[in-house]
Amino acid sequence: MATEQELREQLATCTRIFAMQGLIGLFGHVSVFQPETKTVFVTPGSGSDKAHFMASDMIPIDLTGKPTTGQIPPPVEWPIHTALHAHRTDALAVAHLHTPYATLFGIAKREFHPVTLQGTVFGEGVPLYKEAHLVTTPQRGDAMLKTIGDHRALLMRGHGIVVAGKSLAEVLFASLILEDDAKKTMQAAALGPVEHFSADECKTFNAEIDFERRANRAWEFFSRIESQWDHQGGTGKIELFP
Ligand SMILES: [Zn+2]
Repeated sequence: MATEQELREQLATCTRIFAMQGLIGLFGHVSVFQPETKTVFVTPGSGSDKAHFMASDMIPIDLTGKPTTGQIPPPVEWPIHTALHAHRTDALAVAHLHTPYATLFGIAKREFHPVTLQGTVFGEGVPLYKEAHLVTTPQRGDAMLKTIGDHRALLMRGHGIVVAGKSLAEVLFASLILEDDAKKTMQAAALGPVEHFSADECKTFNAEIDFERRANRAWEFFSRIESQWDHQGGTGKIELFP
């Protein structure tokens, strides 16, 4: 079992990497779950400086959103995290972000489909949660959960994305891939019609099999760069596939 301190440190690192990559800012939050104690560790909410998070900044809450220690409340959209952690054993880490490119697929009337080899992990598609209000109640958390089903990610109409994974490394890697594929789809569209990978085709790439190893490799790569980053907005950003 990962200790509380390990989970806190991983969560802070993951969020600083998201900040370095320009994928989290004023809003957005990330969580990790300790199943043995049913504790969710979540990053502080809007206005907090994600680029400078430390392990001690993380907020422990129970599955009803109540802080288990301290007085700082979790982000208002905590039900996104508790719904997934409580009901999906493969959702040990969750990110809710408003990334610049993937979010556009929750605005344009266009489904998201993978367009790169890395993107084939999204062969099952990324469903759209049509309710645009913030997910601030357990009822809305349940509705969001129903829409995401067993998918790796979710688009939220006019809002952002949710990404779930077995670890923070998987959530980081999947979020970077989703954002990169969304960006490449838009860039390629300027050149002509975009060809995406079909669900059946995606299966032949077996992207899922090796996903954990590749996610861990990406984690090592980005955390090494993050450790040298000056933690100022607008610097340090590294393209996933430049
Ligand atoms: Zn949001």
